[in-house]
Amino acid sequence: MNLKIKDTFTSQLPADAILENTRRQVEKACFSYVTPKQTANPEMLHVSPEMLKALGLTAADAKSEAFLNVFTGNSVLPNTKPFAMCYGGHQFGHWAGQLGDGRAINLTEIEHNNKHWALQLKGAGETPYSRTADGLAVLRSSVREYLCSEAMFHLGVPTTRALSLAVSGDAVLRDMLYDGNAAYEKGAIVCRVAPSFLRFGNFQILAARQDKETLKTLVDYTIKNHFSHLSAPSKETYLQFFESVFNNTLEMLIHWQRVGFVHGVMNTDNMSILGLTIDYGPYGWLEGYDAHWTPNTTDNQHKRYRFGAQLEIGLWNLFQLANALYPLLEEAEGLENILNTYNQKAADQYIAMMRSKLGLFLEEDTDVELIFTLEEILQLTETDMTIFFRNLSDFSAKKPSEGLQIIQDAFYVPNEVSDSIRQKWNLWFTDYAKRLEKERISSEERKQKMHQVNPKYVLRNYMAQLAIDAANKGDYQLIDDLFQLLKKPYDAQPENEKWFAKRPDWARHKVGCSMLSCSS
Ligand code: AMP
Ligand code: MG
Repeated sequence: MNLKIKDTFTSQLPADAILENTRRQVEKACFSYVTPKQTANPEMLHVSPEMLKALGLTAADAKSEAFLNVFTGNSVLPNTKPFAMCYGGHQFGHWAGQLGDGRAINLTEIEHNNKHWALQLKGAGETPYSRTADGLAVLRSSVREYLCSEAMFHLGVPTTRALSLAVSGDAVLRDMLYDGNAAYEKGAIVCRVAPSFLRFGNFQILAARQDKETLKTLVDYTIKNHFSHLSAPSKETYLQFFESVFNNTLEMLIHWQRVGFVHGVMNTDNMSILGLTIDYGPYGWLEGYDAHWTPNTTDNQHKRYRFGAQLEIGLWNLFQLANALYPLLEEAEGLENILNTYNQKAADQYIAMMRSKLGLFLEEDTDVELIFTLEEILQLTETDMTIFFRNLSDFSAKKPSEGLQIIQDAFYVPNEVSDSIRQKWNLWFTDYAKRLEKERISSEERKQKMHQVNPKYVLRNYMAQLAIDAANKGDYQLIDDLFQLLKKPYDAQPENEKWFAKRPDWARHKVGCSMLSCSS
């Protein structure tokens, strides 16, 4: 196994002086050295061929004993020193102090084809940041993270990647619903990959501790290594850095709204500084289009991180990052000026994205109303988001009266589509048809373009659960089937039509399918 090691984090940033693996507050440092835990009986379940190639590894490497050992934490790559990062964060709107990599251990950073990658094991044992928990991950959440991060990549959504999924052979105790029914589950380890795993929280913890020196070191490091198109560090550059993070974050969130992804835990420790989707926990995919939906039962009461609030929360989180950078700028004006552009930019980008989903390429003033009316009607009865937008590409502006028929497969309970709802749909289709008449492209061309932004296949919550149920019984075939399916989410794949279907009834209220807790 030949990886070109190129550490930047540990060589350019201050390390925790204590080497013991004990839980503690870590000050004046960005990370702590820590060795992954030895596992009882590791077994590799799946490896991403795309990621393997991106790292400069081969299929033969993936089958080797060395690969298994390194990516389950049982041996450490030569000339590397694994470490856990120190970060804090706002959880559900409240400052939570130090959090850190409690169950993630960075193995090293590597370079291949002029790209830089950090390799990180999730679930490889405790670290100084594990607080009251065990540093481990269970198979169910690891399958979800592994499949979803690669699926998001293929959907064109900025994301951390996944190289491998393994079981550890250890049993892990979890109270899945936090209801006093703890049980043992299979332990698992995912190797995640990203140019950097830095989060807003890495900066916030230093500002909160008034450690301006380390804060400056970390910001300068981040600019030099990950925003290298910016000039040498200065107050001006810090503002440009913030603006880049701001733009990347917004871009990511617009993609989430496009594909119907709900992160579930948009705490500031789960916001990547590179604008990547990170920390796949109780995430979910919209089935019925519903702005109020969140898969996270822990957030059931306030639904802070519901689908329709994700853009707003993005601004709230960027505000916290701005606060963390303030000590380096010593004046708020520049940061505020950038933050003040958020609402308009988000609205413009959202409308542009929705236009693309509807196959509209010109910009008309009436588009906003057309889009908002559609969102209202979509929520009158349970209507599958993915099926609706995919099938809408078959709509003909010449036959608006056929609209309802074209999208009828998207209705979960056809009986609920009352006459008054039908009437609203028909009016909307009439407006949509009129609007399409203004476009200059052919309907065939429009259909093609709509298929490029409206996926046919997403990792529906029940699909992941089917793969998990089988995996818990030792059958890993469905993991591979879904992995292959989700590599081409925009393709017709007629042989896989069974996955282009509404969530089955049995999954409506099943744990793991519509209800997920943070326990993982
Ligand atoms: P999350 O909600 O998964 O983003 O995690 C919030 C914080 O809790 C992070 O600092 C995690 O590292 C930590 N954490 C979550 N699960 C565990 C675990 N099983 N062991 C140790 N730390 C954990
Ligand atoms: Mg997290």
